[in-house]
Amino acid sequence: MTTSDNGNGKRGAHWVDGRSTDGGTRSAPVFDPARGGITHDVQLADNGTVARVVASAAAAQPAWGALPVQRRARVLFAMREHVEAHRADIARLITREHGKTFPDALGEVQRGLEVIEFACGVPQLLKGQYSDNIGGGIANWSQRMPLGVTAGITPFNFPFMVPMWMAPMALACGNSFILKPSERDASASLLTAELFRDAGLPDGVFNVVQGDREAVDALIAHPDVRAVSFVGSTPVARHIYETAARHGKRAQALGGAKNHMVVMPDADITQAADALIGAAYGSAGERCMAISVAVAVGDIGDALVDAIRTRAARLRIGDGEHDDVDMGPLVTAAHRERVVSLIDSGVAEGATLVLDGRRHVVSGRENGFFLGATLFDHVSPQMRIWREEIFGPVLCVVRAATLAEAIALINAHEYGNGVSLYTRDGRAAQDFAQRIEAGMVGINVPIPVPMAWHSFGGWKQSLFGDLHAYGEEGVRFYTRYKSVMQRWPDSDSKGPEFVMPVNL
Ligand code: NAD
Repeated sequence: MTTSDNGNGKRGAHWVDGRSTDGGTRSAPVFDPARGGITHDVQLADNGTVARVVASAAAAQPAWGALPVQRRARVLFAMREHVEAHRADIARLITREHGKTFPDALGEVQRGLEVIEFACGVPQLLKGQYSDNIGGGIANWSQRMPLGVTAGITPFNFPFMVPMWMAPMALACGNSFILKPSERDASASLLTAELFRDAGLPDGVFNVVQGDREAVDALIAHPDVRAVSFVGSTPVARHIYETAARHGKRAQALGGAKNHMVVMPDADITQAADALIGAAYGSAGERCMAISVAVAVGDIGDALVDAIRTRAARLRIGDGEHDDVDMGPLVTAAHRERVVSLIDSGVAEGATLVLDGRRHVVSGRENGFFLGATLFDHVSPQMRIWREEIFGPVLCVVRAATLAEAIALINAHEYGNGVSLYTRDGRAAQDFAQRIEAGMVGINVPIPVPMAWHSFGGWKQSLFGDLHAYGEEGVRFYTRYKSVMQRWPDSDSKGPEFVMPVNL
C-alpha cells in the first residue's frame, strides 16, 4: 500500500534516507473517523530507529548546508510545484485520517504551500549585514548559519500545514529535518517526504520517524539534534521545552489555546454570528485557532445567542469526503468521549445548554466519531468548560458588561493564542489590540492566522520559547548568528595591544 498513486511510501512506516523503512516493534491504530474502523497501523519507533534516523540526517546535513543558498531555494521552488500538482492527494489523505471536510483540507494544504513559497526567498532572508571600515581597516559582517539536524513534532489537527510551518524554513536555512508527525494521521507526512524526494532534495535531508513519547524523548535527548520545534497540547509543550532546555538545545513549543471572540453591542450581528459559526464549528472545533468562547458585551447577548443557535442547528454534519458537508467527525472515539465528558461537566456546573450535540447520529455513518454542534450560554470563569481547552464543536457564551470587563476576563486566562473583536468602533478596536494579552489579534477577523511572511505564535501557556513559527522568526530559530571581523594588514606589525580597541 502506498501513500500516493505515484509514490512508494509504505503506509505507517518511517521515511529515512529517501525511502520507506520499518523500525520498532510497537504500533498504533489509525482510524477512519467517519466510519469508525481501523484502516491500518502506524509503527512506533524505538530508540534504535530514532538513532538510525538521526544518523541519516546528520550525514546528509553538511553537504546540504554547504550548497549555495540559491540551489537550496530551487529545490523549494520544485517542491512548490509538486505540492501544487498533488494538492488533492494530500487533502484526501488528511480527510480520510483526520475527518475534516475535503475543502477545509485543501485550505490547509494552501496555507502550508504558502510557507514553502516564503522559503523560496531564502537568499534574501539569509543576506546578513555588512559594515565596512569599522576602524583600522577592519570590516565586520554578520551571517546566519545552519544549526545542523533539527526536529519537528507535530499535532494531529493539521497533518500537512503544521509540518510545513517548520520543514521548509529549516531546510531553506541549510539544516536537515526530522519530522515526528502525530500517530493519528501520519500518511500526509509520508506523501510530503515523497514529494521532497521528487523535488530533488538529497536523501537524508528530510526524514519522517513515526512514534509516540518514546520516539520524542529519544529525539530530544539525542546529542546530534540541535533544535526542536513542537506544536501540540500545553502539557506536552511544557515537557518538550523543559527537556530540550535540560539537554542544552534550542526549542520552540507551541501549546493549546482557548480563543475568545468579543462581540460589542455595536457589532453587525449577522457578520459576527456567521464568523462565530465558522470559527467555532469548522473542522469540528479541532483547530488551535478555533473560537471556543464568545464574549457578548452589554445587551447584545440574547440576540447573539439566538443568531448562533439558528445557524448551528442548520449545520450539515457528515463524512468529510462527501459534498455539502460543513463539519466532519472528531479524530478518534477517545477524543469524542473526552469532549462529551466536558459537555457533561458544563451541564453539571450550571451552564445553560442551548444546543446539545451529544446524541447526534449521521445516517449511513452510525459508527463514526461524530458530535453535533453544542452551544452553552451563561458560562462563568469557574467552570471547566471555560478554563480547559475542549477541542471539539462546543461554543461557550460568556456575558460581560463592558469591553474592559471582557479584556480582563481574557487576560486572566492561562492561554493567549488568538483573539478576535467584532465592532464598528475604531477607538474600541485600537484599545483592544493594545491591551489584550494574546499573540494573534483579529479585528472583525475571526481566525487571524498570520500570513507566511509574518509569524505564528501565542503568548502565556500557548507558547514556550522566544520565537514564533515561520516568517522571519522562523529564520532566526533555524539559524545561529555569526559575526566575522576581517582585516588584511600590511606587513608592519604595530606590536601587541593591551587595551580594548575603540574608535576615538
Ligand atoms: P498532543 O500534545 O497530544 O500531541 C502532539 C505531538 O506530541 C504528537 O506528535 C504526539 O505524538 C506527541 N506526544 C503526545 N504525548 C506526548 C508525550 N507525553 N511526550 C512526548 N510527545 C508526546 O496534541 P494533539 O492532540 O495531537 O493536538 C491537539 C493539540 O495541539 C491542542 O491542544 C491544540 O491546541 C494544539 N495545537 C496548537 C497549535 C498552536 O499553534 N499553538 C497548533 C495546532 C495544534
